Amino acid sequence: MFDEKDWETKRSALVRHLVREGYLRTKEVIEAMSKVRRHRFVPLFQRMAAYEDHPLSIGHDQTISAPHMVSIMAERLELKKGQRVLEVGGGSGYHAAVIAEVIGRTGHVYTLEIIPQLGEMARKTLEEEGYAERVTVIVGDGSVGLEEHAPFDRIFVACAAPDIPPPIVAQLKDGGIMLVPVDTGSGYQELLSVTRCGRELKVSSEGGCVFVPLRGKFGF
Ligand code: SAH
Repeated sequence: MFDEKDWETKRSALVRHLVREGYLRTKEVIEAMSKVRRHRFVPLFQRMAAYEDHPLSIGHDQTISAPHMVSIMAERLELKKGQRVLEVGGGSGYHAAVIAEVIGRTGHVYTLEIIPQLGEMARKTLEEEGYAERVTVIVGDGSVGLEEHAPFDRIFVACAAPDIPPPIVAQLKDGGIMLVPVDTGSGYQELLSVTRCGRELKVSSEGGCVFVPLRGKFGF
């Protein structure tokens, strides 16, 4: 039987790998990745692979993103303590927990998940791991964002959209940063970084990526 110490050993080896490869850079994100127990967010049969740098199945044809992608996104968001963050595509809840660690106890993460069973599971795990007060899981179509809690300092979409969904980007604060994987056709996706400067949006590409498709009104 694996105990907490064994998981911790595996987790620190993964974090060292992510630092060595240049995915992890800042102290806050390194600490968050070192703290969140990824093995608790994956199905039991996947636990032994929880600290390998791969996406893993979480059921319902969905996946928890690979640790390097969670790291890249957490770094590119340039998070600060106390921020309000929206995630679209909550899945297992792992990514939300990492972001919650970086923004600290004064911040808040809202995460939207369209599959009710996954939303329920994420809520349960987040509660067991001590994030109930800092992460709110909402079951619903996140392709329209979350108007009732807008605007947000940071937004990240954890599934690939056909284009930057207009209602989501409208919920981004001035100076805010949003990350969204966009399908360019031909099976290739690009991770776009969108920064709001007043009414203008600055868009740049952070490189290629592979995510499951965004469903719903502004999805596929
Ligand atoms: N961030 C997750 C993994 C995301 S996988 C984690 O850490 O585990 C992408 C998730 O997006 C899937 O769970 C899928 O059901 C969800 N999804 C797809 N379309 C969605 C939509 N329109 N609104 C909310 N969630 C959506």
